[in-house]
This record gives sequence, structure tokens and C-alpha cells, in this order.
Amino acid sequence: MSKIIAAAAIRGAHTIVARAEEQLAAALQDLGPDAPVKLPDTAYHLPVILAMLGLKVRKVGDMQEALQQAKALLKPVPTDNLWLPYLGDALDCGMAALFAQEIAEGLKYARDPNPYDGIWLGATSDAILREQGIKLVDGRMPGFAACVGGLPTTEAAVKLARDLQERSILVFMASHSNGFCMAEQLAQAGVDMTWDSYLVPYGRETSAIIWALGFAARAAMTFGGLQPGGLKEARDILLYNKQRVNAFVLALGEVDDEKYATAAGAINFGFPVIADTDIPQILPTGVCTYEHVVSNVVHDEMAQRAIEVRGLKIKIQKIDIPVRYGTAFEGERVRKDDLAVEFGGKYTTAFEYLNMRKLEEVEDGRIEVIGPEIGEVGDRAQLPLAIRVEVAGRKMQKDFESILERYIHTFLSMPMGVMHLGQRDVIWLRISKQAKAAGFQFRHLGVALRSMLLNEFPSIVDKVQVRIYTRNPEVEDMAAQARAAYDDRDRRMGEMTDESVDIFYSCQLCQSYAPNHVCIITPERLGLCGAYNWLDGKAAYEINPTGGNQPVLKGETMDAVKGKWKGVDDFVYAKSNRTLEHFSAYSMIEDPMTSCGCFEAIACVLPGTGGIMIVDREFQGMTPAGMTFSNLAEVTGGGQQTPGFIGIGTLYILSKKFISADGGLKRVVWMTTNLKNRLGDKLQERCEAIGMPDLAGKIADETVTDDLGALAEYLAQVGHPALEMEEMI
Ligand code: SF4
Ligand code: ZN
Repeated sequence: MSKIIAAAAIRGAHTIVARAEEQLAAALQDLGPDAPVKLPDTAYHLPVILAMLGLKVRKVGDMQEALQQAKALLKPVPTDNLWLPYLGDALDCGMAALFAQEIAEGLKYARDPNPYDGIWLGATSDAILREQGIKLVDGRMPGFAACVGGLPTTEAAVKLARDLQERSILVFMASHSNGFCMAEQLAQAGVDMTWDSYLVPYGRETSAIIWALGFAARAAMTFGGLQPGGLKEARDILLYNKQRVNAFVLALGEVDDEKYATAAGAINFGFPVIADTDIPQILPTGVCTYEHVVSNVVHDEMAQRAIEVRGLKIKIQKIDIPVRYGTAFEGERVRKDDLAVEFGGKYTTAFEYLNMRKLEEVEDGRIEVIGPEIGEVGDRAQLPLAIRVEVAGRKMQKDFESILERYIHTFLSMPMGVMHLGQRDVIWLRISKQAKAAGFQFRHLGVALRSMLLNEFPSIVDKVQVRIYTRNPEVEDMAAQARAAYDDRDRRMGEMTDESVDIFYSCQLCQSYAPNHVCIITPERLGLCGAYNWLDGKAAYEINPTGGNQPVLKGETMDAVKGKWKGVDDFVYAKSNRTLEHFSAYSMIEDPMTSCGCFEAIACVLPGTGGIMIVDREFQGMTPAGMTFSNLAEVTGGGQQTPGFIGIGTLYILSKKFISADGGLKRVVWMTTNLKNRLGDKLQERCEAIGMPDLAGKIADETVTDDLGALAEYLAQVGHPALEMEEMI
């Protein structure tokens, strides 16, 4: 580390720690040591302190220990900028600065449950961490940038944000410099800042950047299954971040001592610093394969430069349309005031339908708009819409139609200024005035679809043609045909059983985060993230035979009831780094499937009721198990087998094979209303199918009770069938 930077970082750390000490002393006085420090929905307390020291800060008094540790790490401020014994001093001080900043931020929550308002978001809940984490896991999001400070102009701030968004990099923003603050600049320009648009304004102070490092530390604990504790554990968490969480710091504007200290803290995590100012560079040393600090980078090149330094592989989608295109624009909304035209929603009939044709029947690149184009309709027009995509390919199969069709949502959400929701005949598509002004036309929807289908599915899609209908009667006429086709597909998929196939598919995408985790995906049990079913696995394998989805031959059946096959056991053993010897597909008690961190819901045994409860990850309240979703996720995740706890994809609840070895659906005594709503009428249908038409009505939820004792009474009162069954464990 450069000597000058080291001295500045050490000075900065002293300032930060001293300030935290004062703030803590004041809080001890005003609030007392027992005042709780409660961050919104998290099981990780103050996550950096937890990860590095194994210390769970629950109340203000617990911070004293963390502060002592920070002070112990401080090194004397060098009197001479030109000499320092070794680089470790500045790194230690950087760590001390992080502890102190986390104390400062934590104290805000001790004083006020909602200390952040306006554009600022503050601490991140575990639910958001998991939702964003899966994007890091499956590669949709290559990494994150912690932007510290502000840019000289609003335009420069918007340009940098767009450059990062276009590369699908998650952008955390905090701090300010010379009065400029990037998030405020974006707000001024009316840029949508949410987790969905990959733009996260943490706070105006430099200390708020600690939430980004807390995000990183929690990623290691959630997805890597790393337990905090002593020094070795802390080191593992840092290494995990260095190797697997591709993050970097963008230092924008003047770098003061406190920012140097924070940057030194980030370098401990293996996160390099890219600066727009002329600060001393630090080149690779020792085990580090990349630079620590790269300076003097012009704003236009910052995003690209950061990616090169960190060695990220990113392909920008170059699609021939007049607006930017990328996953970070997927979550963007088009508000009524910005609306040029909309289709569907509750206003008009709109649907999309993709089917395969013979090679000679498809003219690749043919895009037609039948009906008015965008220039022919007034602002806020509401039109009917049919998007008819026809694909052909030598290896294309009928079964893949539904998979490709589902991607229409993703591909049409990615142009900046286009909002797309839903699928099939329940879609809602909006195009903004800004996109229209930039020259975006309806035909560009087809251009984007064609390019993306060819790019993303090169081994199954050779040709694509798209017809876009924007008038009746064509749309209404074709809607009926499309609905018949959807029904036909559903029927065929519904008829598939685990017995009807010899091959299951694995998914190991999450191994980059949970190294021993393997999902086994069967026709009747989808992946626990809910994003991959058996057909997806099959298609993914066709598309990329050496990728994360591999065929698994069932082989000899060892136990048909529990769902145990020799071939599956062998596969799981080999791919779990020889940690899991047995696997049962239909039991949550005996050798259950492991869980990474991205389960849509958790099912867990409720002792004393004979049953289980199921809680979804959006649910933030208490459950009858006496744990929140976050507490449960800690027990369930990380790629271990925990009998009695499984992570599941929501739709698995409707499967005939849902914990069928343990008693199946009639074991369910409690589930969140979110889940009930999501399953809708299908839950009632399943209950009828198993001959228990009143079961759905007997399943309690949080509006009935979140207390185990009260639940048992309720179950007795309604006569829930689980009471008649043996205890599961
Ligand atoms: Fe991860 Fe399993 Fe989903 Fe694959 S199917 S992405 S391994 S949770
Ligand atoms: Zn996962």
C-alpha cells in the first residue's frame, strides 16, 4: 500500500473510531446499555462485526466490545508520510474504521426504528439480500459497485449509473464530495432508484457505505454457509468475498482521510478501489492478482475499467434498438405521466405466444407490425397486442416452446423505457415517452426478441420471425387459439410424473455460493428457487451440455416411497464434494435435499402439531416455530441437510410428490397468506384431489395466530387431519 495512502487511512480511522466512541458514550447515557439495536428483518445483527468478530450486537451495550476491538486494531498515526513499517497497519486500521462505522450506523437504528427517509434506504433486509443474491449466483448480476461520493455534473452521474446498469452491476451509493452526492444527482434527474433497477442509495454519510460491506459479509454467511466465529472464520469470509463476490469501490471526487480509511477496509474484502482523482496507485502485491487502487480514471471509462480490474466477464447486449438494453432496466416502471402507449393490463386484450415451425417456414429476421405503429397513435394510447414469435432450429423441441416463451418477459423488460409484466395472456406492456422520443417503435420489440433468442439460445434457435399485431379483430381472434395452446401445454406437463422418466436434471448453479449444494430437479419437484423445472433443466442441458444442469440417470430404485435411487445418490455424492451420501426426493426428515440460500419458501416441522408450516421469504413476521423467515433461513441454508427443514419452490406444494413420504399435503397446518394467495384455487383443487376438500380451510396462517400453543388449539377446533397422524420426528 502506498505510504501516503496508508498514512491517510490510519489518520481517517482514528477520526472515525473516536467519533463512534463519542456517539456510543452518548447513546449509553441517553438510551442505556440495554436499549435494543434492531435492524429491519435480519438475522445477522451488525453483519460486518458479526462476520469479523463473531459478535452478535443485540443492544447498545454490546457495541462496547466491538469498539474495544476497533481500538485494538488502530495503529499510531505515522508522523512522517514517507515511512511505514508494513502495509498491514493501514489494512488493520481500515477494519477498525469499518467496525466504527457499523457502530455509528447501528446507533441510528437504536435511536429510531426508521432512521432513513427520502431517497435513502439504509440497512438491507435479509429478504432483499436473498433476492439479489440469487442474481449474483446465477450470473445475472456480475458484481456490485460501491460508489462513494459524487460527480461534477448531474449528467455525468446519470451516465455512470447507466453504464453500470447496462452491465448489470448492482450500484450502492453513499457519501458525498464537494457537496455532490451521486444518489442525489440521480434523484434530481428523475432516475428510478430501487433494488429492482440495481440502483441503491444507502445514505449521504460515508458511514452508510458500511451497508454495502455488510451485504458482502452476509452473502458469504448466507450463500457460502460460512459461520462467523474466530479469526479463521473471519479470514474465510474475507477470502470468500475476494474470490466470489465481485465487488469494487468507485471513489468519486476528492478522497479525504475517512474515505481512505473506508477504502482500506474494503481492500480487506478484496475489493479494489477505482478513483477519478489523482490519488496514488497501488499495484498488485503478494497474493493479490489485481490492483488495489487505480486512479485518474475518466468517468466515461470507469465502468469498463472497474470490470477489467476485477476480471469480470460481461457481455453487453448490443441490440439494434435506439435505447439502452440490459437486465438492470428490467425492474424499471413506466409511470402514468411518462406513458406513451400501453397494452394489456386491465385495459385491452394482450398476449404473447411462441411456437416452433419447420426451418423452411421461418424467415429469420422478419419483423412485422400489423396495425398502427407508435408514431400513428396519440400519447397514452391503449392498444390490443398480440406478439407472435415463431422459431425454428435443428435441435428445437416442442417442449422448449414454453421455456422460450417465458423469456419474452425478461427480454422485453430489458429495453430502457419499456415495462413488461406477466406472461401468456395476462401481460401488461408500457412504453415511455422518453423511449418513444428516442425513436423506439413497436417493431423494436421484435428486434429485441429475435436478437436475444438467437444470442441466448444459440444451440436450439436458428431462426426467428416476429409478428406484432396492434389492432382488432386480429388480436381477439388469435387470443383464442393461443389460449387453447397454453391449455394443451399445461395438460402435457401435468401428465408428466417422476416415474415416467429415466432421467432427472441437476442444478449446480448455486455451487458458486454454496459449494456442496445440488438441486435434483424432477418432473414433480422443481428447483427450490422456483426458477427451474425439469423442462428447464432439459433445455438448459441441450443449450449448454457442460453447464450447471446435468442429466442424472435414476438407476436402480432403492426406495420408491422416499424417492431414493442409486444413480441419484452416486451423482449427489460426487457433486457435493463427497459430503452427502444419501438423498431422498420425497422426505424432509430422512436425507432431505440440501438448501442453498435462494429457496422461495421454507417448510419446517412444528413439534406437537403432527404437521409442518410453510413460510415464504417475503414474510417478515413471526411464525409458530418461534422464528422469523430469516432465523429459519440460517438453519436451513448453506448447503447442509437439516432434517425437518427444507427450502422449496412454492409450486412444489401443489405436487403429488410434496413430502409424499412424510404424509404429504395433509401435514400442512400453517402457511403464510402470501403463499395461499400465490397458490390460489390450485390449492383447493389439490385438497379435493386427495379427498380432503375442507383441508385448505383448516390450514392456519398469520391472521389466525403465530403462536404454537394457540395454533394447536385452533387445529383441534377445526379438526385438522395432521392431529391424527404420528409426529414426524
Ligand atoms: Fe440454485 Fe437450485 Fe435454483 Fe439451480 S435450481 S439456481 S441450484 S436453487
Ligand atoms: Zn441457490
